[in-house]
Amino acid sequence: EGRLKGKTVLITAAAQGIGRASALACAAEGARVIATDINAPLLQQLAAEHAGIEVVTLDVRDDAAVQALAQRSPALDVLFNCAGMVANGSLLDCSEADWDLSFDLNVKSMFRMTRAFLPGMLEHARTQGGSVSVINMASMASSIKGFANRCAYGATKAAVIGLTKSLAADYVKQGLRANALCPGTVDTPSLRGRIASAADPVQAEKDFIARQPMGRLATVDDITPMVVFLASDESRFVTGQALLVDGGVTI
Ligand code: NAD
Repeated sequence: EGRLKGKTVLITAAAQGIGRASALACAAEGARVIATDINAPLLQQLAAEHAGIEVVTLDVRDDAAVQALAQRSPALDVLFNCAGMVANGSLLDCSEADWDLSFDLNVKSMFRMTRAFLPGMLEHARTQGGSVSVINMASMASSIKGFANRCAYGATKAAVIGLTKSLAADYVKQGLRANALCPGTVDTPSLRGRIASAADPVQAEKDFIARQPMGRLATVDDITPMVVFLASDESRFVTGQALLVDGGVTI
């Protein structure tokens, strides 16, 4: 049994962090999980540790690779566009290259992935009579709240929310739901990297925690229940929303 039994879920950036934890959570709920990432060795490790999870190396910035994967994949019930990066800095710190890379990886990848997989998902919804779900990774740092040194990042994540709402509006009558997931600060490898590369790493970690009303960072397992909910039919009346899981930062 399981809350995602019979569903096929594809996740980008699933080799570590929230994407990986989501792959495990969806598999534990009975889904067929296709975990994709650009990092092949980390994916192999995931496959070795969890026999049920299928892994595919995929660079979400590579349009041809995205289209080729969509051609050979089964019709999806759930597409979780999780890939994204943080470019640190204010507007004056942000180079044009950082801005462009942030928009390509954080936003255009979702356009690319969704354009490639959506026709199959809509056909699947039509023939199954059920609903299919797109989950896009946004953040509390977006149109929801501004944070210092998150210029390009906040702009991309606001764009993710806009993209998600347009998808929800266009395809609601065809059985597609689209929602944006907006986590607070989550303890993941890339967060550890941001802390380690700060001028004073001890203080940087304290500062991240200080802005958390609950007094701690999120773990990936604080976030995955929302992923499972949005992937499952339990969220069948939820679409076009930006769902915050932030430990109270935006109270
Ligand atoms: P992470 O940043 O530690 O890992 C990111 C993964 O993305 C890595 O496995 C990496 O190999 C993969 N990746 C990088 N470039 C890729 C590409 N071109 N194609 C495919 N995969 C690629 O993981 P995380 O911190 O859980 O972040 C995942 C998502 O969650 C991101 O979109 C991030 O913006 C978002 N998010 C994170 C936090 C946080 O505090 N960690 C908070 C809110 C939102």
